[in-house]
Amino acid sequence: MARVGAACKEAIESHSKFANYEIPVMKAENSSTPVKNSITQCGKDGINGVHELLQCSTCPDSMYPPIHQCPNGHTLCANCKRSSNCCPTCRSDIGNIRCLALEKVVESLEFPCRYQSLGCHDLFPYYGKLKHEKYCSFRPYNCPYASSECSVTGDIPFLVAHLKEDHSVDMHDGCTFNHRYVKSNPHEVENATWMLTVFNCFKRQFCLHFEAFLLGTAPVYMAFLRFMGEDREAKKFNYTLEISGFGRKLIWQGIPRSIRESHRKVRDSQDGLIVPRSLALYFSGGDGNELKLRITGRIWKV
Ligand SMILES: [Zn+2]
Ligand SMILES: [Zn+2]
Ligand SMILES: [Zn+2]
Ligand SMILES: [Zn+2]
Repeated sequence: MARVGAACKEAIESHSKFANYEIPVMKAENSSTPVKNSITQCGKDGINGVHELLQCSTCPDSMYPPIHQCPNGHTLCANCKRSSNCCPTCRSDIGNIRCLALEKVVESLEFPCRYQSLGCHDLFPYYGKLKHEKYCSFRPYNCPYASSECSVTGDIPFLVAHLKEDHSVDMHDGCTFNHRYVKSNPHEVENATWMLTVFNCFKRQFCLHFEAFLLGTAPVYMAFLRFMGEDREAKKFNYTLEISGFGRKLIWQGIPRSIRESHRKVRDSQDGLIVPRSLALYFSGGDGNELKLRITGRIWKV
């Protein structure tokens, strides 16, 4: 019996190396669950057996709760149930019969996170897995470039290279900056006017967004910083932005927001330096036909 158990454990370990997150992994500790018992009895093929048991009879997907069955006991996945009211195997009416036994089987298993291949090696019970994946810190980030609807996702080093190569974004080293924005025709404030610069400091990357938009009916310029990483890390930094000229100075101090939060969300929450256009033109000097704003800033660790 012990030897069979050992063989089973080996099979489990070799399974957990697979990237396919849909293959369930047996709970390692709890040997009293009925599933574990049935697995030890069927030996090495146990996991494959459970996997086959959870295979939808109609499509290539595995079945997860809610699992439905027809009056004759044919089981099918939630997607297939949704697309037809008729059992694909025996053509009888499916109705609303759940297969609680199989759902319990799923609940007794543990699954690797779907981002396993990206570095997350935790195992979760089925419902915990869904919850975890929404917040898994290994899930890919969306491209922080805001103007186009860029659908590129990836980890931070990948996105930094992508910003540089595909969006021609300026990259700067250092935790202080002095940036000049020049725009002719500043009276045409449309939502699409914006710029992105990436700063490298503390071995991390920060996105400085600068853009023009209508706040209600008032044309404004806004600058804010986003952190290329998780929110809990973003909170370890502070930054200031300053615009000055003719003896006046506008200063903003804030905490960078994680790029997990969309550019638009941060903008709409007004979490940054907002300059009314009239004031921006005042800082620009000249006759108001060109916007020449100098933004200085600093990022530091709290
Ligand atoms: Zn199906
Ligand atoms: Zn049927
Ligand atoms: Zn994960
Ligand atoms: Zn992009």
